[in-house]
Amino acid sequence: MQISKLIVLTGPSGVGKGTLLSSLRQRHPELALSVSATTRSPRPGEIDGKNYFFIDHEKFQQMIENRELLEWAEYAGNFYGTPNLPVIENIKQGKSVILEIELQGARQIQKTFPDALRIFILPPSNTELERRLRKRGQDSEEAIAKRLKLATEELEAATEFDIRLVNDNLEDTLQNLEAILFNCRE
Ligand code: ADP
Ligand code: 5GP
Repeated sequence: MQISKLIVLTGPSGVGKGTLLSSLRQRHPELALSVSATTRSPRPGEIDGKNYFFIDHEKFQQMIENRELLEWAEYAGNFYGTPNLPVIENIKQGKSVILEIELQGARQIQKTFPDALRIFILPPSNTELERRLRKRGQDSEEAIAKRLKLATEELEAATEFDIRLVNDNLEDTLQNLEAILFNCRE
């Protein structure tokens, strides 16, 4: 089974990246999902160390200064970054690692790891994206508005990516993602 070692998954907030990745991980436990550090507050049900490492600004700044992040960005008023050690360790062990990150981070990875496979997930429409953000029901109106504003800019950058997938029907998207990752597209 041939698979790229570093995979970047990007797309506007609410498009379904997290949902896709948790299903993908269930089907392929050998895939490693990078756990990011963030200064955002946990949403109800999010677990420190599993969904994110929830840290304060000071600690985030230290991680930048100590070069502990593979990439980082400010998004909708919070900082997000990929701790580099787990990624490097997993790749050393022969595992493929998926980074679920936003556009600025994906652009940094393109420079530092040009061989990474970069996938962009699109919504079927802007209306559906807004519906999904609201359906998730975990962000404030202000946070939703910020995310929708950023989505316009992010969607314009979709053509920069190696692969674009529209997440309309979840199962279809999952199957397309599997086909791309495991190189068995018919
Ligand atoms: P992201 O991680 O990209 O911010 P989420 O995975 O949290 O997005 O998904 C946002 C919402 O959209 C969730 O309520 C999720 O259940 C829903 N969702 C995800 N994919 C689909 C899909 N293909 N069709 C309908 N709803 C979806
Ligand atoms: P959320 O707050 O909805 O969990 O995430 C907001 C955005 O930050 C999403 O687009 C998500 O992909 C992105 N993100 C999560 N972790 C990282 C990271 O480590 N680096 C970057 N650049 N973006 C991230």
